[in-house]
Amino acid sequence: MRLTPLKHLFPDVSESGDRLIYFVKSRSGDGEWRVDKERRHGMGECECPASQKGGNHECFHIKRVNAFMACQRAQQIMLATLKNS
Ligand SMILES: [Zn+2]
Repeated sequence: MRLTPLKHLFPDVSESGDRLIYFVKSRSGDGEWRVDKERRHGMGECECPASQKGGNHECFHIKRVNAFMACQRAQQIMLATLKNS
């Protein structure tokens, strides 16, 4: 089985290189928002206005990072299973 790379599945989400920091492209196409998944006990915080206004409810960007992380974890498990079989 060949897995599609995360960067193709989530072209709008990128890992910053710093632990638990992600960048999500703005839906309007200009710029990107920084999501820090270390904040709020792992729930994450985003710097976008929607997130700030709503008392850091889960904005679109945090949801995208959550989907990215879930898929990444699933792929890790699938790859580990392949290596062990
Ligand atoms: Zn946001």
